[in-house]
Amino acid sequence: MTIKNQSSWEMHTDKAYPKLNAILDTDVVIVGAGITGIFNAYMLAQSGVRVVVLEEEENIVQGVTRKTTAFIESAIDTSFTELITLFGIDRAKLVYQSGQDAIQLFADIIAKEKIDCDYQTVSAYTYATTEKEFRELTREYTALKKS
Ligand SMILES: Cc1cc2nc3c(=O)[nH]c(=O)nc-3n(C[C@H](O)[C@H](O)[C@H](O)COP(=O)(O)OP(=O)(O)OC[C@H]3O[C@@H](n4cnc5c(N)ncnc54)[C@H](O)[C@@H]3O)c2cc1C
Repeated sequence: MTIKNQSSWEMHTDKAYPKLNAILDTDVVIVGAGITGIFNAYMLAQSGVRVVVLEEEENIVQGVTRKTTAFIESAIDTSFTELITLFGIDRAKLVYQSGQDAIQLFADIIAKEKIDCDYQTVSAYTYATTEKEFRELTREYTALKKS
């Protein structure tokens, strides 16, 4: 088994982009060519919006994105239990569902654009290392099972 020590971003971002040396006419300008900027630019362009991405480095994805582990999870840092407390069950479900939708969107784009990035769906595990974490995890499991 060969383990690559470069991310897809590092292996596939050698394309040179032109410097901005003229006044452009566009609908949207996005500052920063990391995953956030590029993804938003892609979605806007798909909707027919004219978009320009400005990046201060020589190439795209030179920031945090370059070194990301690239796990795409539906869960966010705030637990489902806490989301229910903060926003109620319906909105908590909406947050969870939006995470699921985002994963599907990534899968669809990867398939549509034929992006060679070893994308695969795998299981994710959450585990407790203390009694307190175990109680929190049990609460989380119960809340998710109920909804
Ligand atoms: C080691 C590591 C592992 C991670 N693993 C995961 C993971 O598994 N799953 C996950 O979801 N997240 C993960 N993350 C977090 C994730 O990588 C970041 O949240 C994400 O890459 C941030 O993307 P970004 O586009 O917002 O920022 P960046 O990738 O930093 O992009 C910002 C860009 O804006 C440019 N810029 C800034 N200021 C200007 C300016 N004034 N003019 C022009 N350009 C400018 C920068 O040069 C840069 O290219 C990880 C992060 C790290 C460090």
